[in-house]
Amino acid sequence: MNQNSIQVKAEPRVLFVDMNSFFARCEQQVNFWLRNRPVGVCVYTGKYGCVISLSTEAKERGLKAGMRLNDVMAICPDFIPVESNPVRYREFHTKIINVLKQYCQDVVPKSIDEAIINLTNYDHSDPLTIARKIKREILEKVGDYLECSVGIAPNAFLAKLASVRGKKTGGLMMINPQNIDEILSGLKLGDLPGIGANMSYRLERAGVKTPLEMRHTSPERLKAIFKSIDGIYWHYRLNFIETNIVAHDYRGMQAMRQISAEKRKNIEYIDQLFMTLCLTLEKRMVHHKFYCKSIGFTARYEDGTRWDDGFAITLPVQDAVNLMRMIRLRVEKFEKLSGTGPVFNNDITQMRVAVTNFVNTGNMFYSLFDDIERQDTALKTMHEIKNKFGSDKLIRAMEMTDSKVIKDVIGFGSVKDLTDLDYKMPVAEPSNPSPGEEYIEY
Ligand SMILES: [Mg+2]
Repeated sequence: MNQNSIQVKAEPRVLFVDMNSFFARCEQQVNFWLRNRPVGVCVYTGKYGCVISLSTEAKERGLKAGMRLNDVMAICPDFIPVESNPVRYREFHTKIINVLKQYCQDVVPKSIDEAIINLTNYDHSDPLTIARKIKREILEKVGDYLECSVGIAPNAFLAKLASVRGKKTGGLMMINPQNIDEILSGLKLGDLPGIGANMSYRLERAGVKTPLEMRHTSPERLKAIFKSIDGIYWHYRLNFIETNIVAHDYRGMQAMRQISAEKRKNIEYIDQLFMTLCLTLEKRMVHHKFYCKSIGFTARYEDGTRWDDGFAITLPVQDAVNLMRMIRLRVEKFEKLSGTGPVFNNDITQMRVAVTNFVNTGNMFYSLFDDIERQDTALKTMHEIKNKFGSDKLIRAMEMTDSKVIKDVIGFGSVKDLTDLDYKMPVAEPSNPSPGEEYIEY
């Protein structure tokens, strides 16, 4: 479903709903004692546990998502850490989406706490009235502590921007052709979701100093500054063209390899190969700026049997650490339940990892994970260096050693522990390559 087009539609009919401090507020919703207190949700509550969501009260104390518990407690001794409860958040998410769907069938969840409502084809409804009703109804029907911010604009990007800017003014804001220049003139480049420090710097050096100037810069010029078609999309976003309710040409990517009789004798080789396949996909996804929301894994064995798995995840991933971890968790679960012995064994003749159901980096709004952009940049930089100097010149800790180390990698911790429980329905294995599907084989 591609709802993008190069047509300008200036009428503000796209709503962006963003839950405030979502995980923390879910906890405050179910535990009355936590209300009005500085609360934070952590992946685990050990000394170095990472805080992934802070209550409003905790934010007011100057705490930031991504901080470790020892640092948090030093600043705010009455802070209350709560262990994350993904099942709970998903239940609230589902209830919220159901509220939104009462007003429009065209609801696209963007993450666990964000959704787009496209009223373009609902001429009879007034977006402002609907936004107010939604805000009230979430409080009444889902939880009286679950506040949200709603942005309204002609496209999803500007609606997201309106939802962020509107947080301080009662959680409701509209951007339209009449007020956009005034709103943008009050912002810095870094205030635009998706424009990080690097890109701000590049734009400023090229003479585009503010979001307002950016809006009035030609698509060709922005393309030259961004050194990619992204520049054109940025022009579109700021000029009422939809680029963020998206579908694209890539349906899936996979990495596959045959394993010779000689090589499969060595289980370490099989583990290494599994990692290589995941790293290959990571590299491709980084290159295309994709995150995947579905993962597939297949192992074929000497006796002609195979082990197949496919699952969807709520929070999209791009990095090999998470890919490997999620596949391994599924494998371990299966091994425990079935008792048929290890999936990774010396009889494997072929291994395949597939990713699909992509979202673009440009469409990702990681409001919960402030450090995600830094993580993105780190991955990108690493791959750039590898491309330039050869892949053996830069090796991450995980690439050097065994799966034990991989489990200990903390850098990606904020997302992975959530996604553990985020399995949904399995996806069908694509039996034949469809057009647009990329195959990477060795
Ligand atoms: Mg949020």
